[in-house]
Amino acid sequence: MTDTIYAAATAAGRAAVAVVRVSGPCARAAVATVAGKVPRPRMAALRTLRSDKGPIDQALVLWFPGPASYTGEDSAEFHVHGGPAVVSSLLDLLAAQDLRLAEPGEFTRRAFENGKLDLAQAEGVADLIEAETEAQARQALAQVEGALGRAHQRWRSDLIEALANFEAAVDFPDEEVPAQVADRARPYLERLIGELHLARADVDRGERVREGFRIALVGAPNAGKSTLLNALAGREAAIVTATPGTTRDVIEVPMRLAGYKVLLADTAGLRDTHDEIEAEGVRRARAWAAGADLRIWVVDGSSSAIDPPPEELTAGDFCVINKSDLNPGDDTGRALVEARALELEMHRVSAREAAHVGVILAALTDQVVQRLGGAEPPTATRLRHKDLLAEALSRLEHALAVDGSPELAAEDVRLAGRALDRITGRIHPDDVLDRVFASFCIGK
Ligand code: GDP
Repeated sequence: MTDTIYAAATAAGRAAVAVVRVSGPCARAAVATVAGKVPRPRMAALRTLRSDKGPIDQALVLWFPGPASYTGEDSAEFHVHGGPAVVSSLLDLLAAQDLRLAEPGEFTRRAFENGKLDLAQAEGVADLIEAETEAQARQALAQVEGALGRAHQRWRSDLIEALANFEAAVDFPDEEVPAQVADRARPYLERLIGELHLARADVDRGERVREGFRIALVGAPNAGKSTLLNALAGREAAIVTATPGTTRDVIEVPMRLAGYKVLLADTAGLRDTHDEIEAEGVRRARAWAAGADLRIWVVDGSSSAIDPPPEELTAGDFCVINKSDLNPGDDTGRALVEARALELEMHRVSAREAAHVGVILAALTDQVVQRLGGAEPPTATRLRHKDLLAEALSRLEHALAVDGSPELAAEDVRLAGRALDRITGRIHPDDVLDRVFASFCIGK
């Protein structure tokens, strides 16, 4: 028999209300012992919770008989006063009934195992709890509501049509007919491949929304990167000094632009150096910059010796000619020409002027919205999804390429189907489940 589990569903500490959850076959007995009469299903009832030493609290008690509950099992919730003593007395009381403290994510894992949600929806629940920005929450909610599961249903129906045609071709005794029958699978495969390509491309957008859009400040020491970072972030995150080479590591500052999470990084001034620590800083700066979604090349507009643009820059990145309050240096013209040739978006500012910084902030916000926004939140959002989409795609492309052997094509299509089924957990290796649910907090 399954254990009955319990856990506090709310964070530890003082609060007006704390919620303790119970799920499993002994949930009803636990409610009866702790609260007396079991309330009507799904109706909140005020009860005095008692231990054998006396009352511990007055609480709202909710009883959810399975299968119409979050986990699909008999479950209950106790809404108690959120003081640590009350919560711990209630937890002790439940432990004394032979209930077991839940593992992280165990309530949601049970929901998954009882068919209440698929694996992608469970991942959405974890993301929704983690969400700090509106965009993260919107994306997670779409996943909780089954967006990926619905896409999976569509993909499966094309897959089944293709498979049926290949299998029919295998069964055909006549030598001439198989090729024609197998050809009928082609449009389904082509449509499916197109859709999977789109979904896979969208994972990057989904990952950016989840993890944050990365913007790197790059450029020579003393150009004003730290000053600009502090001004953009609105706080003193990086050390500003007139000594070149002060920023020796990558400083990441989380920000929020138009509801999206953004990571802005100040990187070590890019220059050749013999100082070992600084050289390591430069190496990390380059790696971070290369992997970023957008780079801002900061140039000291008052300097008469501007370094050539860093190699990591790509079209659409920003070039900020800084220190516009000072007289332009002799080299600014050359930097401008180089930035134009690279198709960078140009801004001429002083990082010390709030209004100038506001213009850059607005331009950055436009970029983030353009690249992460979209009519619909992405359906696939994690590396796990991307890997499985890639596996399915390579099987399907192989199925299209094998000519004259419907047996082989059918096998490819079956393997593609298995990869897709692992996305929603229709097929679920235990280690994958362990990994997904381990990222949850206890009580969810
Ligand atoms: P980093 O090495 O690129 O991070 O450069 P910092 O932000 O540390 O700036 C180097 C120096 O330039 C500091 O003394 C800043 O105060 C100064 N600085 C930065 N931006 C401006 C600006 O717009 N105008 C002027 N006049 N000085 C600036």
